[in-house]
Amino acid sequence: MDQDRWARVQVRLRSTVGEDVYSSWFARMDLEGVQGESVHMSVPTRFLKSWIQAHYADRVLSCWQAEMPEVHRIDLTVRSAMRAAAPVQVVKPAVEERRAERASAPASAELRGPMMSPAAAGHDALGGSPLDPRLTFDSFVMGRSNTLAHAAARQVAEGRRGDPVMFNPLYIHAGVGLGKTHLLQAVTWAGNASGERKVLYLTVEKFMYGFVAALKTQTALAFKEALRGIDVLVIDDLQFLQGKSTQAEFCHTLNALIDAGRQVVIAADRPPSELEALDDRVRSRLAGGLVVEMGTLGEELRLEILKTRVAAARAHHAGFDVPQPVLEYLSRAITHNGRDLEGAVNRLLAHSKLNAQPVTLEMAEREVRDLVRPQEPKRVKIEDIQRVVARQYNVSRSDLLSSRRTANVVRPRQVAMYLAKTLTLRSLPEIGRRFGGRDHTTVLHAVRKIEALVTKDVALADEVELLKRQLQD
Ligand code: ADP
Ligand code: MG
Repeated sequence: MDQDRWARVQVRLRSTVGEDVYSSWFARMDLEGVQGESVHMSVPTRFLKSWIQAHYADRVLSCWQAEMPEVHRIDLTVRSAMRAAAPVQVVKPAVEERRAERASAPASAELRGPMMSPAAAGHDALGGSPLDPRLTFDSFVMGRSNTLAHAAARQVAEGRRGDPVMFNPLYIHAGVGLGKTHLLQAVTWAGNASGERKVLYLTVEKFMYGFVAALKTQTALAFKEALRGIDVLVIDDLQFLQGKSTQAEFCHTLNALIDAGRQVVIAADRPPSELEALDDRVRSRLAGGLVVEMGTLGEELRLEILKTRVAAARAHHAGFDVPQPVLEYLSRAITHNGRDLEGAVNRLLAHSKLNAQPVTLEMAEREVRDLVRPQEPKRVKIEDIQRVVARQYNVSRSDLLSSRRTANVVRPRQVAMYLAKTLTLRSLPEIGRRFGGRDHTTVLHAVRKIEALVTKDVALADEVELLKRQLQD
């Protein structure tokens, strides 16, 4: 009976927190019993208990209340291991308890971290995040915006076991698509290539979930062993680190590694000072190494990246080629980030393969249209709007400003006011003034009117679109 309810609560919980969170935190939560208005549940470790209490207590309660409105309290305890195996009852709970303690005691500065299978060697076996074989130093193009970051990353990758660490951590920050992940993975590939050192690359999610998973299997001690074998720890996307306990764990790991003379490399989308979720100690530790920013990709750099990408694609698709004018067009048109450059090359490749056609400028323009950010919209003037609208409807500009209320001027006037509101930053009273000293409520009425009409009247909608286009280019 209660177990059935619990099963339904689990379904609710799973759908409110999502599969990942559910399996990380709640998969091992059991129902012990329901008594009156309190529900007694258990988890295997103290860490899970405190995490759930700190982050999910309300949600657990409300999921229960949805099934049983009388519930007002959730008691969460750390279960002793031993409900099942009677013979070892005396010993086991104590062991379990001690383990749990070790795994959760935040004061211990033991090396603990994300690695899950300490016995295994190699990046994957250590629980690292997957690496993309294309993201190496060879394919990383240097330019003004990334020279320093590149040099520092190289230096780290080329270090040898036991070398003094020059800057720790190395902290690289840049906006989306500017090459952080590329550089970090390049460090990982190059560092591991020598075979002499172990470089572990982790996204911060992997760190968070890997850490939790490891606590579940209670291999804190084995972790320590595993971390001992890491020479360089690389953590990507630190801006996603969240949660007090995870932060504490991150901080321990960071301190332990740095104090042990191991290199740490971190990337994030902002400088340490702007990682608001982190506490001051972590932030200052992060800022205590070398902090390097990578700027936006300049046009030359974009062109080089495109060339590198095309060359890489040609290795597998010999017939594929992108003429120089197309490359130049792309590097000028796609300005914001490296991901879109990659996307553009992929599209050209797909298109030319599927249609067995060579890449032309025209095809490129068509294929990447949506990757090209529109130029800053042109500033539109109210006089221009009045002029263009008057011409379109064959009335004079003074008709628009006059107080005449015949149908053939009312509608054009309303369209013009609507355009003034949507294409300029002028306020309603200001627009009213510019239309022959009208009240702002008249302008508002006109705007609303046209807004409503264009949803129903296709011809008018087209007309308005056309006017907008005329005014904007
Ligand atoms: P971030 O992690 O900063 O969001 P990525 O490293 O994923 O960005 O880069 C996005 C894309 O742009 C990738 O395909 C990457 O290879 C490419 N890219 C960015 N910067 C460079 C560079 N300097 N040289 C070569 N490719 C680059
Ligand atoms: Mg990235």
